[in-house]
Amino acid sequence: MIDLELGEEHQALVDTLREWAGREVAPKIHDLDRAHRFEPAFLRQMAELQLLGICLPEEYGGAGMDYVSLGLACEELEYVDTHLRVVMSVHVGLNSMTLWCWGSEEQKQKYLVPQAKGEKIATYGLTEPNAGSDAVGIQTTAVRRGDCYVMNGEKTWISLADVADHFLVIAWTDQEKKKKRDHSGLSAFILERGFAGFDSYTLKEKWGILAGNTGGFSLQDVEVPVENRLGEEGEGFKIAMFALENGRYTVAAGATGLIRACLDASVAYAQGRKTFGVPIGQHQLVKEMIAQMASDYDAGRLLWLRAGWMKNIGRRNTRETSLAKWFATVASERAAADAVQIHGANGYSDEYPVGRYYRNCKAAVIYEGSREVHKLMQADYALGYRRDKPRRVELPPYLP
Ligand SMILES: Cc1cc2nc3c(=O)[nH]c(=O)nc-3n(C[C@H](O)[C@H](O)[C@H](O)COP(=O)(O)OP(=O)(O)OC[C@H]3O[C@@H](n4cnc5c(N)ncnc54)[C@H](O)[C@@H]3O)c2cc1C
Repeated sequence: MIDLELGEEHQALVDTLREWAGREVAPKIHDLDRAHRFEPAFLRQMAELQLLGICLPEEYGGAGMDYVSLGLACEELEYVDTHLRVVMSVHVGLNSMTLWCWGSEEQKQKYLVPQAKGEKIATYGLTEPNAGSDAVGIQTTAVRRGDCYVMNGEKTWISLADVADHFLVIAWTDQEKKKKRDHSGLSAFILERGFAGFDSYTLKEKWGILAGNTGGFSLQDVEVPVENRLGEEGEGFKIAMFALENGRYTVAAGATGLIRACLDASVAYAQGRKTFGVPIGQHQLVKEMIAQMASDYDAGRLLWLRAGWMKNIGRRNTRETSLAKWFATVASERAAADAVQIHGANGYSDEYPVGRYYRNCKAAVIYEGSREVHKLMQADYALGYRRDKPRRVELPPYLP
């Protein structure tokens, strides 16, 4: 039997997050956003709430919750502000879950345990100035020299670039395969901020997710110990895609939360604002926008819940997660645009939150596989051009 009810633990998590975010984040987010300021205290509080290791096993310092809990946390966090969900995406989804599945026991003890406890913050570095969707187009290299790799390159558009302590970085280890664009020449590495030759920066001209930190880093002859290679040489592309599958799940759930934020703000405004003698909610064209948000919210929620349920039972979910991410992010853009519309000129002011929702939603339509990338994936699955091949490493099912 399929059960769509939240269990007691899930509901308790939702209640806790609504209370915390409503008390600590909501009153400050307008000013933080306007000041383009990242608030480190939120990270400490998220660590205390065990969010930073939410679905990681207790033996590695995590909270031992299931993957649906991860989705619920992302939905609740993005309801308040996108930058909090981004922390979950890069720290938990892209980095820690990957390290847990692909890392050696030594790597897990050294890097995963402090990450799961929230003592160290982690992110993910794939994108470069000349390559985003085309991951094989990256230029960063890792050349083996004795018991280390010497890494050179430039990563950009990296969430938490100036905040994170640990970085999961994809680079070419086989220079012949790099020339042929053969992705089996890519490898993955764990880097620390303190490594000599590592230098990060914050992007100053970003126009959304302004309370978040986004930047880049350069690697100049960075010596990375061989024991910091994640997986085998040549597994970097598979690891990068594995990471994205979990990152996309967090983005899908988060975008669903943003749709709900748009819906709630729009309903409140439509009930209060009057034109032509009646609340604007009574005009059919406004109702249409509200109805679209309501249906998009439910559809987005069901799609990410299905992906979370599949993760819980250990079933491959590349297609379902891609669909959830594609649908929810595109729908969140529609919801945010309509929320601004319903607010009229007031929507065009930061006095109301919907302008922030509008600026924030767009990035998720671009990152972790753009709208176009997911559309192509869905078509290819439907047409039979794409089939999932078994992977050496899979996300373990949730075992209560
Ligand atoms: C706020 C923010 C945070 C980010 N955080 C991270 C991070 O933490 N780590 C990280 O590694 N990256 C991060 N990124 C980068 C993100 O993953 C890339 O921007 C994304 O992969 C798209 O790459 P691109 O920007 O180079 O666009 P491009 O790949 O150059 O694409 C440009 C346009 O062309 C379209 N396009 C490309 N190829 C095709 C095709 N084959 N068919 C049809 N259309 C196509 C795209 O959909 C897009 O519309 C972040 C980006 C943003 C905006």
